[in-house]
Amino acid sequence: MSSETTRRTRYDVDRNELGELLTGEPRFRVDQLWKGLYEQLGEPAELTTLPKSLRARLDAELPAALTTVVERVNDDGDTVKYLFELPGGSRIETVLMLYPDRVTVCVSSQAGCAMGCGFCATGQAGFTRQLTTGEIVEQVVRASRKARELNRRLANVVFMGMGEPLANEANVWAAIERINTDLGLGARHLTVSTVGLVPGIKRLTEWPMQVNLAVSLHAANDSLRDEMVPINRRYPLDMLMGACADYLIAKGRRLSFEWALIDGVNDRDSDARELAALCRSLPLAAHVNLIPLNPTPGYPTRGTPLGRVHQFRDRLEELGVNATVRRNRGTDIDAACGQLAAGQPVQPVSLGRRRDTADVDDNIPDAAHDTAHDTA
Ligand code: SAH
Ligand code: SF4
Repeated sequence: MSSETTRRTRYDVDRNELGELLTGEPRFRVDQLWKGLYEQLGEPAELTTLPKSLRARLDAELPAALTTVVERVNDDGDTVKYLFELPGGSRIETVLMLYPDRVTVCVSSQAGCAMGCGFCATGQAGFTRQLTTGEIVEQVVRASRKARELNRRLANVVFMGMGEPLANEANVWAAIERINTDLGLGARHLTVSTVGLVPGIKRLTEWPMQVNLAVSLHAANDSLRDEMVPINRRYPLDMLMGACADYLIAKGRRLSFEWALIDGVNDRDSDARELAALCRSLPLAAHVNLIPLNPTPGYPTRGTPLGRVHQFRDRLEELGVNATVRRNRGTDIDAACGQLAAGQPVQPVSLGRRRDTADVDDNIPDAAHDTAHDTA
């Protein structure tokens, strides 16, 4: 754990605690404040149903957790990336994705990540601290508010920003419950992505909430996966597949595997065959999401060229595995896992197109939103 101090912020406080904060006020004030924060998605200062003096007190006593450092919109205006500063100074990112038929937010669960996957900018930066429940919920509130300003409705949340959600289980579970109950987003529209922390997958299996699970696989044999995803040494593929099988049997839901395609590393015919064999070993079909690797400062190998990404997909289909090439977005705004926070110094809002790779169209790993969407 880091020594950074964390304090309770606006969305860390539940309804009972709001009530305590309003001791001495008429009882209906709790309802007004609750609606203001969770339905209007407003700042206390904007809640004109409340007396001015109370608004000022709430502003001071219920501080926001997230300070916007950068808000960047991509060229097409369908992706908005935020770099937020947290109390204590660490930074996280949140990405809002506006599809024609749905709106999804990609949230962070930790500042940094301790899992050390070499190809990931967040992993390269290391771990700073856990996010509190309120810091996770507030990302969804901010995205939801932005979507509303754009006349859209946010309905999906994917835990695919910075951090490993199953390494911050208590706060992530609590945030999911709050997002579901207090913000009204359906559990089937919420997706947890994990690098493969088996104990967390087991607890998710036992949990009654029907959230979606995405497992970042990237390699289907232990020697390659040990290298790409170091936590594989603790939870090797047979354990991971065992936990995935139990999840599928218990939940009867589709599981997604994420596979970031890296040139010459995990895009060979043998990789496709090994992946297909793993998928076939499961009791229910898994869906594979292929993401061309997004370039990061600390990893020299390139993403697989797009033509070969499609060939890999076709090969998996031939082998009987459902696979989708993710139409990633946002190269022009560094909207990829960990990139904006890692890319210091941060430039102000830029709408200019940046092209430093010929092969990768754009870069948000937006996988699993289909899972969330299809099963709704
Ligand atoms: N820690 C979790 C969730 C956050 S990472 C996990 O690993 O699943 C979200 C997704 O982005 C994961 O599938 C991860 O493997 C992928 N990712 C990380 N770095 C990437 C990169 N450089 N290019 C493409 N995808 C990447
Ligand atoms: Fe952490 Fe996921 Fe990045 Fe691995 S890929 S370092 S688990 S955020």
